[in-house]
Amino acid sequence: MKIEQNKVVSVNYHLTGKLEEQPEELIEQTSTEKPFVFLYGGGGVLDEFEKNLNGKKAGDAFDFHIKATSAYGEHNQDYIADIPKQAFHVEGKFDAERVKEGEELPMLDSEGHQMHGLVVEVGDEHVVMDFNHPLAGYDLHFVGSVLDVREATKEELEHGHVHGPHGHHH
Ligand code: ZN
Repeated sequence: MKIEQNKVVSVNYHLTGKLEEQPEELIEQTSTEKPFVFLYGGGGVLDEFEKNLNGKKAGDAFDFHIKATSAYGEHNQDYIADIPKQAFHVEGKFDAERVKEGEELPMLDSEGHQMHGLVVEVGDEHVVMDFNHPLAGYDLHFVGSVLDVREATKEELEHGHVHGPHGHHH
């Protein structure tokens, strides 16, 4: 069976990413016990990821790159913000325990949507936070193989995601 629209696909891969001129770094490694399983066309994965797997079948290997612009976008300076330290006060005190360089914090935007921000710097008055996707600016490189391809069930197509092992449980 070939990978195409409405198939449930299991793949095992090694994902590395490259930020500008820096060396490739490991981002994610799946295994045969814990493969990555997705519904082709379900909207849960990058379009380019699906395109590169189209037509392959169980046992086929793959090795492809996805440019940042087709993945999580370029790193955007506009998504870096200076936030007054008062915003991080808990009971009148700056929460230095939680708000540290390199920490990822859940934040609410002006419309109340939850987003994640990375603490870049803690200054005297402000905290510099980066709201870019953690993989923004990264060119991605997937190397792996297709473990399984099967027909999606009617329910999976209705829900737009995979059920069963490695999928949603409900
Ligand atoms: Zn479901």
